[in-house]
Amino acid sequence: MPLAWEKCWTQDRNEDRFCVLCRKAHKVSSSLSKGRFCPGCRTPQRDHEAARVIQALTRAKKYNAPATLTIPEWLKILDHFKGKCAYCGRNFEIIEHIIAITAGGGTTALNCVPGCLGCNATKDRNRCEYPMPQEKIEKAKSELLFLFSKVS
Ligand SMILES: [Zn+2]
Ligand SMILES: [Zn+2]
Repeated sequence: MPLAWEKCWTQDRNEDRFCVLCRKAHKVSSSLSKGRFCPGCRTPQRDHEAARVIQALTRAKKYNAPATLTIPEWLKILDHFKGKCAYCGRNFEIIEHIIAITAGGGTTALNCVPGCLGCNATKDRNRCEYPMPQEKIEKAKSELLFLFSKVS
């Protein structure tokens, strides 16, 4: 039997949530935890990536663009590209939208790859003297298509 103070504490804060990765129900035991991952799946890196996804979704919504990327989808994309920029292979720094949100692209599984800031800048054809070759963009696109069409 829990002690009285424990009961009182758990009543407020212990809520069942489903882990976005393993789908198991788990208790959210701290008001600081957002409860996206169960204790077994939660790592600082995953928390960091989850925050990145939320931020990209918020940005898409602000522009009334599609905002459907899920945290497991993003982790799958990152894993596929091994945490490297999808265009140049350097360490990734941002969620790169293949079609920019401002150009009608959304934060969706088929439009988001890990990217570095350098490549992100070279995708701006209006501002860049040597824009990124279209083949590189097409290659990233087709990798995403392949990744999400596979039966898993
Ligand atoms: Zn889990
Ligand atoms: Zn790059």
